[in-house]
Amino acid sequence: MNVAFDAHCHFYESDLPQGVGGVITNAAQYTDWAKVINVADSCGGIYGAIGIHPWYVQDIPDNWGQLLESHLINNPDLMVGEIGLDKNRPDTEKQIAIFIQQMHIANKTKRGVHVHCVGMWPTMRQILTEHDFSSVPFILFHRYSGASGDIAWLIKKCNAYFSYRAIDSTGKIRAIPVDRLLVESDSSSPEQCTEWTAGMAQACGVPPDTFINNAKRMIKNGQII
Ligand SMILES: [Zn+2]
Repeated sequence: MNVAFDAHCHFYESDLPQGVGGVITNAAQYTDWAKVINVADSCGGIYGAIGIHPWYVQDIPDNWGQLLESHLINNPDLMVGEIGLDKNRPDTEKQIAIFIQQMHIANKTKRGVHVHCVGMWPTMRQILTEHDFSSVPFILFHRYSGASGDIAWLIKKCNAYFSYRAIDSTGKIRAIPVDRLLVESDSSSPEQCTEWTAGMAQACGVPPDTFINNAKRMIKNGQII
């Protein structure tokens, strides 16, 4: 029985592990894009997202934006990720510029976005307020660590979802409405999500398939299914 959906991973194999009904695999580095496109094509249940991660803004070609847009146009099921902002990494101004540009590309191509944000929530909120990203169908905030008070605003503003491991040191899980909560491995091993799904279901007092249904609804809103 497929009990888990890994909403945020970096999995580049063409067969889903046992017990896992679906994954969204994200590129981190620019050099991961081809791998993501290949595995997302190879098997039902593997969905892909490509983008420039805030840790890897240095080694990218000058025309990365054009390349990103053309890959998205050529692959209508592809999403944008993993993108975002990270205070613990260098080149803050470049991170911000690249994040904004990717959000505009996601908006133009109408793709869901997968966001990593560490220690820069006021900047993230400001960017999401000042720009028009209204054609982005959803944003998945992976391992959300911003203010609990911003959760309702993000859901309204960005059709936001939030993914965690069952045991998460940020302690935010209980602040997230259960219909917006997803399970993630953030690794190359989605099978870990079977155990975490059970743990999270128990912690939230809901059936384990809640999180699969949430992931499917999110993807469907993004017109991917
Ligand atoms: Zn990740």
